[in-house]
This record gives sequence, C-alpha cells and structure tokens, in this order.
Amino acid sequence: MSDAVEIHVAFDDHDSPRGGCTTHLVSLFIYILLKETSINPLFLDYPLLIRLNPGVPWKTRGNGAVVLRLSVPRGREKDLVELAVQTSIEYSSAFKSRTSSPGLAVLMGGKAERMRPLYLKALTDVVTPDIAIRYAEKHSILIPKEVRGRGVIGALAALGGLISGEDYTYELLAYRVPDMWGEPRRISGGSVRRMALATEPLTFSNYDFIKEKPLIAPRGPDPVLLGIRGNYPWILRKSLEMLEIEEPIDAWIIYRSNQGTDAHCILRKLSELRPYQTACIRGVVSGKPRIIRGGHVCFNIKDQGGEHQACIYEPAKPLTLIGEKLWPGDEIIVQGVVRPPSLHEPQTINVEKIEVLKLAPKIVYRNPTCPRCGHTMKSAGRGKGFKCPKCGYRVKNASKIAVRIPRRLKLGVFTAPPRASGHLLKPLSRIGWEKKRPPPPPEKWFYYS
Ligand code: ATP
Repeated sequence: MSDAVEIHVAFDDHDSPRGGCTTHLVSLFIYILLKETSINPLFLDYPLLIRLNPGVPWKTRGNGAVVLRLSVPRGREKDLVELAVQTSIEYSSAFKSRTSSPGLAVLMGGKAERMRPLYLKALTDVVTPDIAIRYAEKHSILIPKEVRGRGVIGALAALGGLISGEDYTYELLAYRVPDMWGEPRRISGGSVRRMALATEPLTFSNYDFIKEKPLIAPRGPDPVLLGIRGNYPWILRKSLEMLEIEEPIDAWIIYRSNQGTDAHCILRKLSELRPYQTACIRGVVSGKPRIIRGGHVCFNIKDQGGEHQACIYEPAKPLTLIGEKLWPGDEIIVQGVVRPPSLHEPQTINVEKIEVLKLAPKIVYRNPTCPRCGHTMKSAGRGKGFKCPKCGYRVKNASKIAVRIPRRLKLGVFTAPPRASGHLLKPLSRIGWEKKRPPPPPEKWFYYS
C-alpha cells in the first residue's frame, strides 16, 4: 500500500466586487499549506487555472476556476480538506458580497478522467447545479457542505480539465500587498510594451499594439496586480523581471491553463444552438453582410440543419472588416458565444473568430455599355431593354451582364483582438505553438514575500 494519496482540490466563485478573487484565495491557501502546516504536500502539477464557458451570464470576468493536484501523506487528506474549507470560509467572510457564491470540490485518489465529460459540458454549455451535484455523487466527489454555493459547478467541472493530450498555456499572476488594494497600479506601460515586443510569440495577449495599451492589469480593487500570459513558465519569470513595477509584490504564482487554446471550440450544428452556449460552426455564408448601427457587422450562416444570424460587434474591429468582405457561398467556421434573442434581434452568434475555408465567386450584374458611344446604359423600363443616357441609343433585347469582382478576402484564420475576446480564444500568434506532450513537473512556480 502506497503511503501517499492523490488529492485534487478545486475552488470557484470566491471573487467579489469588493476585492476578492478565486486565484488570490488559492495563493493564500498554498501559502498556509506550505508554510504553516506539517502536511507536506507534493504538487503533482502547476496550479491549474481552468476557464469555462465564456457565455454564462453570471460570470464576473473570465469564468475561471482553480484546481490543485497534490499528493499528501496517507492520513493527512482530512487535514488538507479542513484547511481548504476553513480558508475558503474565512476568505469569503472577509470579502462578503451578494454576487460571490463559493464552491469547493475534492477528488480523492486520482482518476480525474471521470470528470472530463462534465468539464467539456461546462466549457461549452450551461450546467445546472443539480446536474453538477448528481455527477459529483455518481463519481464520489466530496463537496464540503460548508462551501456549497454556485461555485461548485465550476469547481466540479474544472476537476476534469487539462488531464492529458490537451493544449495548454501558462499565466503568471502577481498579487498586491493589501495596503495597495484599490490604489492605481504602478506598472510602467512602456515596460509592458517592451516586454511584449521582446518575448512574443513566447508570450501572448499582454499588450494591445493597436490601441497602445497594456492588457496585463485588471482594474479596480482586485488583489491581482498583473497577469502575464505565455507558452512556458520560464518566459513568464523572465517577462516579470522585464517590467518596471513601482509597488511591492506580495506573491506570484504560475498557473497552467486552458486559456488561449480554443478548448471551447467543439463543432456543433446550428440546429443544436441554445442561448449562452459556445458556438463553433462550419457552414456557408447565406446572405450579404449587413453593417448595422454602431458599426456592427451581421451576416447569416447556413449548415445542413438550419440558418442563423452571426454578428461581429464593433469592439472586435478589425474582425468587423473581415466580416464585411464575406460573400454568399463562402465556406467558413465561426466561433463565438450564443446571445439569446431580444425584442429586436433573433438569437445571434457573437463572433470572435472566423476561419475562411473557401471563397465563392463574387458575381455582380451590371447594365451593358452602349455599343455606339461606350457609356453605361440605363434600363428603359420593365421589359423595354436599355437606353443610353448620353447618345439616346436603344437596345431592346439586351440583359444585364455578369461581372466577376476580385475578392479582397484571403483564406485563413481571423480573430478579434485580445482586448475584445474571451480568455479561451487561441490568438493567431499561438498557431504552431500548441502543446502536444504532457507538461513537465512544476518548477519555480511561486514566490511569497
Ligand atoms: P473570477 O475570474 O474572479 O473568478 P469569474 O469570471 O470566474 O470570476 P465567477 O464569479 O467565478 O466568475 O462566476 C462564475 C460562476 O458560474 C461560478 O459560480 C461557476 O460555478 C458558474 N459556472 C461556470 N461555468 C458554468 C457553466 N458552464 N454553467 C453554469 N454555471 C457555470
């Protein structure tokens, strides 16, 4: 009999508008676990930051949950769970808010694969609390009764995330000292730009070169100082050193994550689409794109089972410019989330990515030119042929001429910029950098002041 037990602990929904955040709670839990107890756990993996369905309406920001995969000496499992419950309760009461609804879920003895179906469902669809709890009971997952808020959905689902064979990335999250919470963040924007220029494509989505704005810092009273996203832990540590930060860092942790991997793009049919699901649809453009008030671009897409409206909203520009160039018959894959119908609009895919697979010929019909003077003729009335407005020449038996217009669109993948897209979207710079092998064991993944 082995003298160690594998235990996976997942946390969700500990954030609050007054300052809390699930990853921050986890950073405190890890600190207490490592420095103030004798449990002596072994971290089998980096802490996992698992993003779930970006379409659920009750998420605060990025719909993220955190999982710790550990091994503890046999007999210490109970102490670990008690510590997780205690830390969660104390954290939630410190940041009490109407919107947070903390959840905790614990899987004992490994075999996280059994939670994968729930993970895939929560990545792409809406999961009700009873479905999640029934699933947990069936698979003997412990949900401590003291921490049973809506967060159990995300916590349970996250247990099945990033098991093996899936692409992954990393994010280094640095936390502020409590005295600085609510104060403006003192990070030099220029240094973020220099860091991004020097490290991309090993890092991604950290700086917006179109709007010239850093993307690493949240706003408001959040205890998170910054988050740097990248493909390897070492580049994140190096990137942090490149930043000019004029405030103390309380702690930092490197998380392994499904962010930036398109994990939520699981192809389905238009007829299956329901509000708040993620959409990943292969189909054909079935109407000319329409530019509507506000600069949004909408078009229809069709597959074997149906037709559906898809819109690229103005903040996703320059993706809107791609949408404008689509043409009926183009074969595409669209990716986004499903907005429920409103008073004025049908159910709509809010598009954040388009892959153009095949371009249809763009044919427009034009009036013929005058055989006598070369001027473009005008219709002479229904069934009466054409008349030249310049020289008066008339032709009775002519019809409009089909003209093939060159397409100004290329085949390829086009995405919304990071400022306007969800955490799961794979940025273009990651194409070719996908991970195929299981991750190495965690190394130099935390710092506490
Ligand atoms: P933070 O980034 O600070 O953790 P957040 O954006 O992750 O905030 P939460 O406050 O955690 O948002 O809210 C998400 C809530 O939605 C959680 O209670 C979680 O359990 C639940 N949830 C996550 N995915 C789904 C899903 N697919 N169906 C239903 N509920 C979900």
